[in-house]
Amino acid sequence: DEAQITRQFVLPFNSELEERYSRRLSIITELKNTLEHAREELSLNYQPKLDLKNGKVTHVEALIRWTNARLGFVSPEDFIAVAEQAGFIESITSWVINKAIDDAARFKEVNIDVSVAINLSAKDIMNPALLPKVLALLKAKNLHAECLSFEITEGDLVRDHDKAVTHLKAFRNEGFEIAIDDFGTGYSSMAYLQNLPVNTLKVDKSFVLKLHQQDGDQKIVKTVISLAHSFDMNVVAEGVENLEALKLLADWGCELAQGYYICKPTTADNLITWFNDNRNTKWL
Ligand code: C2E
Ligand code: MG
Ligand code: MG
Ligand code: MG
Repeated sequence: DEAQITRQFVLPFNSELEERYSRRLSIITELKNTLEHAREELSLNYQPKLDLKNGKVTHVEALIRWTNARLGFVSPEDFIAVAEQAGFIESITSWVINKAIDDAARFKEVNIDVSVAINLSAKDIMNPALLPKVLALLKAKNLHAECLSFEITEGDLVRDHDKAVTHLKAFRNEGFEIAIDDFGTGYSSMAYLQNLPVNTLKVDKSFVLKLHQQDGDQKIVKTVISLAHSFDMNVVAEGVENLEALKLLADWGCELAQGYYICKPTTADNLITWFNDNRNTKWL
């Protein structure tokens, strides 16, 4: 009967939805509070990208961390999309850029010569205020465009392609490197890649994590590498967790590798220590 159906199907479904909905609401409420009154709950971690040609770390990716008084640690996987929908992303990106540029200056001071890669959302890229702001902050710290680079998720660029191209070109014209993040999980076509003013494809970690065991992943990664090269783009592989994967990627001509095998995302202080400890490490 109807009551039984309700008990069996509708109620569990509803309660799961309700749970997700209330989690979302608490993320929105707490994030708003953090951005307005408790920015110390935010921090940036950094993860090196290793150049497979010369064994040096040329880039580090900035990854946001949020530990909230009420919710505890919340992964960016859980709050970035919510922040975009709730209209907080501009404020988050602004915080990230300020912090990342401060840290970029610090890395330079201690002779760590890297480009700090910042993750941007599509909304950021379309925001005409972003580029002038980045340029002003760099200038204030006496830094050049090589000190900063950007990563943008593939899906975000597809939705409003022409407008995205215009904005990306403005960044490229100032000398910033731009990577398409999570490449392979979206819906890009060859034609779309041809017109995109980016210089790097970042292979999604889902194809890299089990690279040494999965023939299918190997085929995909090799294909992305050759696709990128035919468009004069570099390739970064993320999610490198073992030496086997690192060796395969190097053999196939992948330019950069990033993953737990090399270094987990860590604080700016720990990153500086890591650099000093690994000046002579032979990775391959
Ligand atoms: P992403 O940009 O694709 O970053 C890669 C993610 O893979 C990071 O997760 C990183 O910690 C993780 N990772 C790196 N190496 C390995 C590995 O060897 N194995 C495994 N299993 N994972 C690895 P994280 O830090 O949780 O970030 C998740 C996503 O959140 C990022 O994916 C990015 O899309 C977004 N995000 C992070 N920080 C920011 C930010 O400051 N702004 C924006 N807009 N998005 C951000
Ligand atoms: Mg990224
Ligand atoms: Mg990625
Ligand atoms: Mg990702």
